[in-house]
Amino acid sequence: MNAKPRKRLFLGLLLALEGIIAVTLLLLWYVPYRGFETLKPGLSEVIGWTFLALLLFFSLGVIVLVATIIRGREMPGTKRLRGILVRYFFPLITGLGRLFGIPKDDIRRSFIGINNELVRSESLKSPPKSVLILMPHCVQRDICPYRITVDVRNCRQCGQCDFSELTQVAERLGVDMTVATGGTLARRVVIETRPELIVGVACERDLSSGIVDTYPIPVLGVLIDRPEGPCLNTQVNVGLIKEALEHFLPKEVHAEKERAGQTAAS
Ligand code: SF4
Repeated sequence: MNAKPRKRLFLGLLLALEGIIAVTLLLLWYVPYRGFETLKPGLSEVIGWTFLALLLFFSLGVIVLVATIIRGREMPGTKRLRGILVRYFFPLITGLGRLFGIPKDDIRRSFIGINNELVRSESLKSPPKSVLILMPHCVQRDICPYRITVDVRNCRQCGQCDFSELTQVAERLGVDMTVATGGTLARRVVIETRPELIVGVACERDLSSGIVDTYPIPVLGVLIDRPEGPCLNTQVNVGLIKEALEHFLPKEVHAEKERAGQTAAS
């Protein structure tokens, strides 16, 4: 059972942030109003319009974000919006959430959900060799003696952890899969392999920082479950990874590889 990203939390905080910005700009304009006028007649009006333009620009960003999520389709400015979300909104919203006492992981989960919606709306497609599945080491069964961090093909597909099915899926679709033992290694893999699209699997913290670090490469994030606590024998919903791959691979390539896999299995 995967924790569902609650997109509404992030959007709610975004609206709260907009309210705070509006009040701050109003105060910044209203309090020194007379001072501006003494300094130069008409200056307060120019500043007022500038602040209003800033607020409208922010509101437009929020409107495009909500509309993209609701429609599930790319809108003008969606690509740029993903950059703004990753670079500016996420750190701001994390800070705001801290002020309200909202757990960081809740905000990260919500951010991952919104990022996924934006990536999906862009309808990106790449050949299998340009798609990378980035997995955390903790999904591997702790007692497993095989070194899949060196090469995931060392997995014997014994069925004791989700790598069993995942390695079969990756093999069948011709997609590269790498197992990273931490964020630094994951970043190095991305720099070295230069994928066009990434299916990232991790916990809330690693996945959200991975999405930020690898920007502008689009990442579809899948969260892990931790039935035995953090970093030990974690699990992943393989169906969600398959879904992400289906989204990233050209339809005909995906269908053809799936067919070939089924024929070989029968
Ligand atoms: S499925 Fe692969 S990685 Fe998992 S325990 Fe078995 S051999 Fe090890």
